[in-house]
Formats: sequence, C-alpha cells, structure tokens
Amino acid sequence: MKVGVLAVQGAFAEMEAYWRRKGADVFEIRQRGDLEQGLDLLALPGGESTVQGKLLKDLGLFDPLKERIDGGLPVFATCAGLILLAERIERDPTVWFGSLPVTVQRNAYGRQLGSFVTRGFFDGQPNVPMTFIRAPAITAVSPDVEILSTHLGRPTAVRWHAITAFTWHPELTF
Ligand code: GLN
Repeated sequence: MKVGVLAVQGAFAEMEAYWRRKGADVFEIRQRGDLEQGLDLLALPGGESTVQGKLLKDLGLFDPLKERIDGGLPVFATCAGLILLAERIERDPTVWFGSLPVTVQRNAYGRQLGSFVTRGFFDGQPNVPMTFIRAPAITAVSPDVEILSTHLGRPTAVRWHAITAFTWHPELTF
C-alpha cells in the first residue's frame, strides 16, 4: 500500500514511522508533483492547522488534495489533520477541506497545559493509551459518523466513509 504523508509542517516524521511499521510504502507530499506517483491513502499529521492550511494553498497542494479526498481517497488524520478535514471550526469562519461532517473546537484543553495521556476504549479495544497534544475536541458529528473512541463523553476518534480521524495521536501508540 502506498501512503502519502503530508510533510509541509508538524509531526510528519512520527506519521511516516507509523505507516512504515505497518509495512506501507511511504512517501512525503511536499509539492504538487509528489502526487503524480499516485497514492492509496493520504495521512495528515499533527501540527498547526492554520500553518498547514496556508502552506497547502501556497504550494498548490490544496485543490488536488481536496479533489482526491472528496473523490473517496482513504484518509488517516490526527489532530491538525482532523481540523483541516472538519466541516466547521467553532468560533472560526475558516473551513479548510470541509470534507468530514464534524465540528471541532481547536485547543479545547487549553494551549499550554493541554497535553495529557489517558486510556480508554478504541474501536472496541480496552485500555488503549491516547496521547492528546494541544488537541481539538469534536463537539458535533453528523448522525452517520461512526465514533471509535470517546473522552469525557465526547468523540475523540471518528470514521466516516473513507476518512478516519483522531483528536489524539494513534501514531504514538500503535
Ligand atoms: N492545536 C493545533 C491546531 O489547532 C493542533 C495540535 C496538534 O496537531 N497536535 O492546529
């Protein structure tokens, strides 16, 4: 399986290592031409969503990626990647890809002390460690969104069609 990891900013190295551990053929997406080789899955890493979104536009990556995502390309996203996919951001008119019918709140656990690890059910498995790093919260989901994990009653990982997205960092656990 060929996995393209968005590598314009943030924790893309961790995401690449995760997919290599899974045996994927991993390459970095840094410019438009990188998409020519084709990909089976797009991985969107953590980082700073505003910076990533702006770079995607400046580098001419935004439109071709949106076209592929909306065309059903499987996507695996964490944190900033989830924010880029969300249809709505609380108290913010910005919409990036807008391809995932959820609402997110950025930095929902506070900016500085907002990083923590907890354990919980993920996809039916108990006691999975979940690392949150200045994480967003998912505050609303469309009824056809599948919820894979929760924290304090709120969804923290979701699946919708070919998109799987996390507020925590699965690439640091699995
Ligand atoms: N706080 C970041 C944002 O709003 C996301 C944090 C992360 O990706 N670890 O974009």
